[in-house]
Amino acid sequence: MENCIFCKIAKGEIPSKVIYEDEIVKAYLDINPTSTGHTLIIPKKHFTDLDDIDIETLSHIMEVAKKIKKLLEDRLGARGIKLVQNNGCLQEVKHYHLHIIPDCKVEKKSLDEVEKLLK
Ligand code: AMP
Ligand code: ZN
Repeated sequence: MENCIFCKIAKGEIPSKVIYEDEIVKAYLDINPTSTGHTLIIPKKHFTDLDDIDIETLSHIMEVAKKIKKLLEDRLGARGIKLVQNNGCLQEVKHYHLHIIPDCKVEKKSLDEVEKLLK
């Protein structure tokens, strides 16, 4: 979709710190992390929100979320992981994305350091 920042990230037109990618999704570090390791998973195809996205894509995103949860635990020592997906007035970027947010006890690190640890 034109003028969608996450479509541009999906196509590599805007840089992002990618930690996982396949033909359906891209997972990259949130530019303004709530805690160290805060990751977003997006479908490469544009879906707006939970109403819009199909179950097959959603189910693949959850499979990838399980992998990333394990990465954050193994590589960053995260002891708790929160999944968040905003809709409606809570959603700032109108391209479906799942937040994977480690607990705040994870040691503070720069985005570059986290990218190296998770890649
Ligand atoms: P939401 O309120 O769920 O739509 O959250 C949007 C999230 O996207 C926020 O946590 C932002 O920090 C994040 N974000 C916005 N632009 C970028 C970007 N270019 N790269 C990575 N994350 C971004
Ligand atoms: Zn989009």
